[in-house]
Amino acid sequence: MKVLIGAFDTESNAYIPVMNNMTDYRLTFGNDLIENFKGGDIFRAEGIEMIPAVAASGGPSGVLERDTFDYIEGQLLKAVRRHLYDIDGIFLNLHGGSEVEGLGSADHHIAREIRRIVGPYMPIAIVCDPHGNLSKEYVEESATIIRTYRHSPHTDADETCDRVAKMLCGLLKNRRNIHSVYRRLPMLFEGEQSVSTDEPVRSINAYMDALEKDPRIMSCSWHVGYTRHDTPVAGCGIVVIPETEADQAYAEEIADKLAAFAWDRRREFHFTGLAQEPDVALKTALAQNAAPCVITDSGDNITSGSCGWNTYILRQVIDLPKLEKSVLFASICDPAACRKLWTMPVGTQTQLRLGVGYDEMSAPVELDIVIKIKGESLRPVGISAILGHCVTVSVVDRPVDIIITDDRAGYYKKEQFDRAGVDWLDYDITVVKLGYIFPELKEKAAFYVMSLTGGATQQKIWEIPYKRILRPMFPIDDI
Ligand SMILES: [Zn+2]
Repeated sequence: MKVLIGAFDTESNAYIPVMNNMTDYRLTFGNDLIENFKGGDIFRAEGIEMIPAVAASGGPSGVLERDTFDYIEGQLLKAVRRHLYDIDGIFLNLHGGSEVEGLGSADHHIAREIRRIVGPYMPIAIVCDPHGNLSKEYVEESATIIRTYRHSPHTDADETCDRVAKMLCGLLKNRRNIHSVYRRLPMLFEGEQSVSTDEPVRSINAYMDALEKDPRIMSCSWHVGYTRHDTPVAGCGIVVIPETEADQAYAEEIADKLAAFAWDRRREFHFTGLAQEPDVALKTALAQNAAPCVITDSGDNITSGSCGWNTYILRQVIDLPKLEKSVLFASICDPAACRKLWTMPVGTQTQLRLGVGYDEMSAPVELDIVIKIKGESLRPVGISAILGHCVTVSVVDRPVDIIITDDRAGYYKKEQFDRAGVDWLDYDITVVKLGYIFPELKEKAAFYVMSLTGGATQQKIWEIPYKRILRPMFPIDDI
C-alpha cells in the first residue's frame, strides 16, 4: 500500500508589514522528505510506502503572496494527480493558521483541491496545530481524519503525528466510510490564554482522554483557533472521529458534549503565569533576588509571526537611571545592523543605531557598543530550520548584552543560545521574543513574567478591531 505525504506550515500574522514569498519557505522533496517526515516510522513499520509530494515550512510569519501559494499548492496537487492510481491514502501535516492574499486559508484550500481530485472516498488524514482555524467543509468533507496536538507548548507534536499515521494505517487496512464531526465554538483565545498545563485546557484534555477510552471514538480534538488575521473561520472548534460507520451518530452526540464542556469553561481562560503591563513587568523582574529571570516581550512574539524587531523593552532598560542587574536581549532582529557589525572584528567599539524604525515600537536606539561574539541565528520552522547570522554586542557602561540577528528568531532552545555563543544562565534577566514561556526556559528560570507590550502579537486581542469574524464572539462580546 502507498500513502502520499506532504506538509505545509504557515501562521499568517496580518499585522506585520511583510508578506510571505518563496524566500520565506524551506521546501523539502523526495527522499529528504521521506527521511524527515514525522509519522514516517509508523508507515515504515506497517510496510506502507510513502510517496513524497512536498513539505513547505514557513513557520510563523506573514500573509502569503498568491503566486507563492500557487506554486506550493501546485506541487502538492501535481503529486496527487501523478500518483492518483497508485496511492491508497494521503497524510498531510497542515498547521491551519495560514492566510493567502485574496483567497483565505491556504490549508483549507489545499485540502479542498486535493479532495476534488481524489473524490469523496480516499482517506485523507490531517495532523494539525491547535492554533489553526477550522471550517465545516475542511473537517467534514475535505478531511477523513483530523487531529490536533493536545499540548501548548506543543510537546506532543511528534507523538500526535505518529498517532494520526497509525489511525490512517488502521483505516487503510480496515476500510470504513467514516467522517470527522465538527462543532464550532464562538470563542476566540490567544495561545497564552490556553496553555495546556493550566486550566481550563488541562480539564478539556482530560475529558477528551476519557471520551477516547470508548471504543466507538477514534479521536477527539479541541482547537484554540488562530487570532492573527481577520477571517470568518477564526475561532475555537471541536473534532470527533467515530471508529466505524455505525458510530457516526454517537460521534455527533460526543461532539455536542465536548463542545458544551469547553463552552461552559469559557470564562476560565486566562493568561498563564504572571502577565503585567510593561513598566510593572520590568520593575517586578528587577526586584527579584533569584536569577535567572525571563521577561517575554509578548507583543513581539516571533513564534506567533511577529518580526522580533521591537526595541520597546530595550529602551525601557536603557532609560533606567541605574541598572545593577545584567540583562540579555535574545534577540532583536535588525538585518542592516547585523550585516554592518558582521564585517567588523570582535572587540570593535562603535556607535550603533539599533532598530528598524518601522513604527513607534521598533524605534531606533543610539548605543555605544562593543562587539562581543559572532554566531548563527537559528529559527526552527516545521520540520526544518532557517539559519541566519547573529552578532552579540555589549552596551558600553551598562550591563546589557544584545543578540542582534538578521532574521527573526524567538530564542527558546539551548541550541539557539549555543549557536549564538551566549549562555542566558549567565544573566540576571533575559528578554525573549515569546508570549508564553517555553519549557526549556521555564525549567531553568527562577522567575518569569509576560510583559504585555504592544506590537503585532499584542495579547489583548479584545482590543483588535476585527471586521470579518463571527459575531457575537466571546470574549469580545459577552455571551
Ligand atoms: Zn501552535
